[in-house]
Amino acid sequence: MARTRRSTRERGLAGQHPADRQVALRDMPEGAPCFRCELRGVYHPMTRAVISKSQATGRWVAPLLELDDYPGRVFGGPQVKRLSWKRCNRQAGARLGNAIRAARASAGAGAQPRLSRYDRW
Ligand SMILES: [Zn+2]
Repeated sequence: MARTRRSTRERGLAGQHPADRQVALRDMPEGAPCFRCELRGVYHPMTRAVISKSQATGRWVAPLLELDDYPGRVFGGPQVKRLSWKRCNRQAGARLGNAIRAARASAGAGAQPRLSRYDRW
């Protein structure tokens, strides 16, 4: 199946999203829980050691942290936005996307999305 990636703006991640992320990075306390892991009841601390401020642009830089959307942009509607580790956010997104594709592939059979229970990495 061909995959095309929509632009940042098309995915609703331009404008306010990076602005919100800048504020979240600025204000994050040391040891703040990773939001994505907190949702499954696991304390996964984040550290300010991965956040720096660009001398060139004055912006907060943290390639390992993302402003996570919950319940997820795929569901539409208002999102709770908090910081998660990039890996945790992307893993959850991939798992959800796989479940949705699997459900679509067997559409008509009244299939429900089946979320994998595999969570050891
Ligand atoms: Zn996490």
